Amino acid sequence: MNSSNSKAYELTEHTFDVVVVGAGGAGLRATLGMAEQGLRTACITKVFPTRSHTVAAQGGIAASLRNMTPDSWQWHMYDTIKGSDWLGDNDAMEYLAREAPKAVYELEHYGVPFSRTEEGKIYQRPFGGHMQNFGEGPPVQRTCAAADRTGHAILHTLYGQSLRHHAQFFIEYFAIDLLMSDDGVCTGVVAWNLDDGTMHVFRAKMVVLATGGYGRAYFSATSAHTCTGDGNGMVARAGLPLQDMEFVQFHPTGIYGAGMLITEGARGEGGYLVNSEGERFMERYAPSAKDLASRDVVSRCMTMEIREGRGVGKEKDHIFLHLDHLDPAVLAERLPGISESARIFAGVDVTQEPIPVLPTVHYNMGGIPTTYHGEVLNPTDDDPDRIQPGLMAVGEAGCASVHGANRLGSNSLIDLVVFGRAAAIRAGQTIDRNSEIPHVPQASLDKILDRFDQTRHANGSVPTAEMRDRMQRAMQEDAAVFRTQESLEQGCKRIDEIYAALPDVKVTDRSMIWNSDLVETLELDNLAVCALVTVHGAEARKESRGAHAREDFPDRDDKNWRVHTLARVDEKGKVDLSYRPVHVDPLTPESEGGIELARIAPKKRVY
Ligand SMILES: Cc1cc2nc3c(=O)[nH]c(=O)nc-3n(C[C@H](O)[C@H](O)[C@H](O)COP(=O)(O)OP(=O)(O)OC[C@H]3O[C@@H](n4cnc5c(N)ncnc54)[C@H](O)[C@@H]3O)c2cc1C
Repeated sequence: MNSSNSKAYELTEHTFDVVVVGAGGAGLRATLGMAEQGLRTACITKVFPTRSHTVAAQGGIAASLRNMTPDSWQWHMYDTIKGSDWLGDNDAMEYLAREAPKAVYELEHYGVPFSRTEEGKIYQRPFGGHMQNFGEGPPVQRTCAAADRTGHAILHTLYGQSLRHHAQFFIEYFAIDLLMSDDGVCTGVVAWNLDDGTMHVFRAKMVVLATGGYGRAYFSATSAHTCTGDGNGMVARAGLPLQDMEFVQFHPTGIYGAGMLITEGARGEGGYLVNSEGERFMERYAPSAKDLASRDVVSRCMTMEIREGRGVGKEKDHIFLHLDHLDPAVLAERLPGISESARIFAGVDVTQEPIPVLPTVHYNMGGIPTTYHGEVLNPTDDDPDRIQPGLMAVGEAGCASVHGANRLGSNSLIDLVVFGRAAAIRAGQTIDRNSEIPHVPQASLDKILDRFDQTRHANGSVPTAEMRDRMQRAMQEDAAVFRTQESLEQGCKRIDEIYAALPDVKVTDRSMIWNSDLVETLELDNLAVCALVTVHGAEARKESRGAHAREDFPDRDDKNWRVHTLARVDEKGKVDLSYRPVHVDPLTPESEGGIELARIAPKKRVY
């Protein structure tokens, strides 16, 4: 391609110290923290900030406040390590657990309307995998909640606070790609204003990706249609690696058919699962934690019950979640949102009948590798922790890694605010306010505009929606709760073919204003990169760990596989896999009051 396209599009240039892409919980917490320190900060978002997927988070946010049961950051750290199936980085997990109470009190002071105990403290509920006494139990009440609309409360509060500190918002701007200088520094981002069709170049000393997950690579997901892994796509196109993408969380309780989420808080408040024989089968699989075992465990048990013929319904293909034994007053006070979702999407009155549920794609443990300060990593063989200048990533798009192979419920919202805040603190220390803002790297800009223009005029034979549907079905069938060599090889083949066929996509609308056809095609490009890396990483990983359950390799293999997968994708869609070590050292040594090393050494994971 020639570089004529950069002349075909009129560009508006902006300069900032920091540009945050994404206005979910992670993006807003980073934006707020940057602006608070006087950094000139822009926040770009493709949807209105309070419509980001964080708004849908129901159950709550984990922090060891000990308002309702005994707790400690060490217990929280231990549960997170065990939940991660020993793939998370121990330094990052310590940082998360230690900073969590501070981050929640900060939210309280910013104005988040948490539910309250009788004494007026923040209400906390039990959640899967969160226990007292280093996993011994009983369950701990650690998950702070604003009824079952916690994400909604957090997002609205953070948006208000960001405006108060004069962060500048670019709303309904679609970020297309990262500007990368010839010497490999990220120097900004190019975005398209959906509303008036203009193109914008943002020059910045630091870009923060907070673009969320890629649940929509699958057919049935609890995440919003906007969760398309755009930041992951940008990173892969910039030649940088993605990490641990084979770990995809299935939430046990998506509403059968609709995919809408019923929060784990429902089981936290006393709900339980039954099979067609009316049996509370989780008692059999997880005698101690029962229905509050971690999500990967519960999803697998449900799948096994269904496979063995004990599913409910005409097709015996789902499971019942009972809440009808609970006091209707508790349901109305603590779970109003899911009572409504069950009525609308399953036609069920939760005070009278069980809710039909099925494991549904919910969360991406993998993403853009970062330090616990949010700095993006671009590892080499010699330096597995090499930092990529000019780029940070936070929230579900990032991978610090605090969730490892499986995330505990309510540990994502806390990840958003702890690492959004950490990135702001780091940027405050590292950005030189007096330095010159980097110039636009012309070659990089030309390449970005060429790709955009090509996509806009794509005139192949397959409509975007059809191509997306093929990809989503392949992922749903071949990279599901249980995986085998056969299913994964087939998945690789199908996704490789779809990736190769992307240039044959057909875009019908050529306009620049609210062109949803083009938006969806750019999103499909990003989803396809995520799908590609997910299946190839999964095929290569010959063990079972957390959410990655291989029937042909049923055991965890710490000797060979306690490593992070790194995946780079070349221009033809070839995936190059390499591995980097897990950080086993916590931040605080045992001798200085840190957690005992023997405690966090890998062992069998039972609940
Ligand atoms: C239904 C549901 C319930 C959940 N409940 C809980 C819970 O109770 N507790 C918990 O801990 N976790 C929960 N989770 C997980 C958690 O909510 C998410 O992981 C988290 O909200 C992700 O936040 P984020 O800030 O990373 O991204 P998001 O909230 O997804 O926001 C992404 C942002 O990026 C922007 N963006 C993306 N691409 C582009 C682009 N190309 N250009 C410009 N902007 C872009 C979007 O506009 C948006 O502002 C839940 C998830 C779901 C789906």
